[in-house]
Amino acid sequence: MSTGAQLVNLVAGVCFILALKGLSSPKTARRGNLVGAAGAALAIIVVFSAGADFQRVPLIVVALLVGSIIGWIAARRVQMTQMPQLVALFNGVGGGAAALIAVIEFTSAGATESTVAVVATVLTVLIGCVSFTGSIVTFLKLQELMTTAPVVLPAGRFITSAVAAGSVASAVVLIGSPSTIMLAILCLFSLTLGVLFVLPVGGADVPIVISLLNAFTGLSVAASGYVLENVLLIIAGTLVGASGTLLTQMMAEAMGRPITNTLFGAFKASTATAAGSGEERPYRSSSAQDVAIMLGYAQKVIIVPGYGLAVAQAQNTIRELVDLLTERGIEVEYAIHPVAGRMPGHMNVLLAEANVPYEQLKEMDEVNPEFATTDVALVVGANDVVNPAARDDKTAPIYGMPILDVDQARQVVFLKRSMRPGFAGIENDLLFQPQTSLLFGDAKDSLTKVVAALKGL
Ligand code: NDP
Repeated sequence: MSTGAQLVNLVAGVCFILALKGLSSPKTARRGNLVGAAGAALAIIVVFSAGADFQRVPLIVVALLVGSIIGWIAARRVQMTQMPQLVALFNGVGGGAAALIAVIEFTSAGATESTVAVVATVLTVLIGCVSFTGSIVTFLKLQELMTTAPVVLPAGRFITSAVAAGSVASAVVLIGSPSTIMLAILCLFSLTLGVLFVLPVGGADVPIVISLLNAFTGLSVAASGYVLENVLLIIAGTLVGASGTLLTQMMAEAMGRPITNTLFGAFKASTATAAGSGEERPYRSSSAQDVAIMLGYAQKVIIVPGYGLAVAQAQNTIRELVDLLTERGIEVEYAIHPVAGRMPGHMNVLLAEANVPYEQLKEMDEVNPEFATTDVALVVGANDVVNPAARDDKTAPIYGMPILDVDQARQVVFLKRSMRPGFAGIENDLLFQPQTSLLFGDAKDSLTKVVAALKGL
């Protein structure tokens, strides 16, 4: 590779690192994303211009165009609430592509490869296949095309261990004596392992698994970089692997559970304490007018946004409400739980879309002591992240997950459509407490009514 091409590669590598840095804050995330995309574009240009011996350039260009168009349409059309599914799908495609490249490299170069290159190829196939099928199952779960609950097969652990052992054994045999049949067996074992790995994970743990699979894809891309002697792939893959691992760890911490628990113990679909256990408990429902009065005469209000806010696309209406309250001299802040919504940062992105000033967004640890001096906590489409059972009930499946201490506020208002539970599927005792009122309806409709009532006060 010429010095010029190497230099451009270096610039692309720096772009990837800067992209990650940019993505670490909502203020710079958009720019970070663009910098990363520019790095990827540079990398593609280098591949084509560095004198590689391509035989089917028109076909490659067509594939690039088709992929870009599909990606562009998917990214434009996806709803914020469907983002985890999209990430799962893109991630699966990445892992699958890395595995396919390795298979092609292996079948064309095979025995002529050095042992180290064969090890890298085999690793790419193994991890890429696991990531591919694992991500597809994750996508199916998140899109609710299959049950989101853990699927525990009879003797599931034994079968999974046997398949994992089969994958490792076929990989070792393949490294010792490369053959196409053994490669096919390895593919079969690792594709099955991906499915078995994700099936027992359910409920609120599924988004964590996407992040883990993302780290796997990074590793397989890094290994394929070695196979293809492409330094940039090694850099990009390592960055994805490292950031995916860190993100997985942070998400598990935010849920208050070790990652091993997520993968091998999990929520067991939370049916034991599932809502709707038959018992009818009294609760207080309010009108938009009542809520407007409560808010309009408060001194301090904390807004707690959750998944339902994203579903209802109510980010602009909530900002309008907050603007009105602020004009009335009321102190208003947003309390952001690290796993509110369906991915970390979900609420920050959503509220940034509505131009909510970052200074109004308060993280959990910072805002929790403030609830005790708050007149009204307005919970908009959130449930699990404010469920006191996580703090107080040792038998609850979400026990140990840090929560927003909304129950400490003088009054709590929930905007939701029904008494149905949140993602974890368990009842929230706070809905039945005397300080709580419920305004039923789609969050955007309810907020629009509250805004209208507030203007009339
Ligand atoms: P939840 O899923 O607990 O609650 C969402 C609430 O929104 C529901 O009670 C629902 O009630 C209500 N809702 C849904 N649609 C609407 C609508 N259109 N208008 C008004 N309300 C609506 O969300 P949270 O944000 O509180 O919690 C996130 C969950 O995701 C947690 O269980 C967390 O553990 C999990 N999770 C998040 C991860 C992350 O990284 N972010 C990772 C892993 C898990 P109703 O149907 O009655 O309207």
